Amino acid sequence: MANRTDALFRDDAYLRTADATVVAVNDRGGIILDRTIFYATSGGQPGDTGYLERGDGSRIVIAATLTGETKDEIIHVPAPEQAVPQPGEALRLAIDWERRHLLMRMHAACHLLTVVCPFPITGASVSEDDSRVDFDAPDAGFTKEDVTAGLMDLVRADHPIFVRLISDEDLAANPGLVKSKNVRPPVGTGKIRLVCIGDNASVDSQPCGGTHVKSTAEVGEIHIGKIEKKGRENRRFRIRFGPMPASLV
Ligand SMILES: [Zn+2]
Repeated sequence: MANRTDALFRDDAYLRTADATVVAVNDRGGIILDRTIFYATSGGQPGDTGYLERGDGSRIVIAATLTGETKDEIIHVPAPEQAVPQPGEALRLAIDWERRHLLMRMHAACHLLTVVCPFPITGASVSEDDSRVDFDAPDAGFTKEDVTAGLMDLVRADHPIFVRLISDEDLAANPGLVKSKNVRPPVGTGKIRLVCIGDNASVDSQPCGGTHVKSTAEVGEIHIGKIEKKGRENRRFRIRFGPMPASLV
């Protein structure tokens, strides 16, 4: 039977450490805790890395975090040759915060891109230095420069980014909230997590289970590195950190 892990990062993406208790260690060595700050790979955002500190101060290095049999079960995957904790053991959790914060900035940047380019999303992948969003979009004449300028306007405006929980009924009444073409948010759990941008969600709102920074200014300087054509209708946008490299034209 699958366990249910209390996902602390859903309420506070800024938790870098926490205390938890081992619930189980599965037959592949994956560690299941009663609660965690480790985000598990999903929605295009990679899971966290970090370590679990034991009572004697030794550390179990975590190389990946995944969901288990259900989305509510979070599995901490140790690096090779780590010690195995016992069920009931208390551990101190620490994520690789530097990496996670980059992922939070990038993930929020992907949301900003969907504001600047309001087309149906067919895929997305977040990483520390390069993220991509695929859109079902004909060539509408957008350039890297135009889209970058639109993104940076949103960053400079320093809009708040926050979570609002809505009901399945609210979502059914507002189908336009969902920009994903292929992925539907899970319904039937009663509550859907909307990630909102701007005062009273004036800029955007979108169902999402990932982790994001708390304001658009915290995304920092970003640019569109590339717009690739993926088939007749599909365009892949690559977001990178830093200013746009000077054109060689
Ligand atoms: Zn998101």
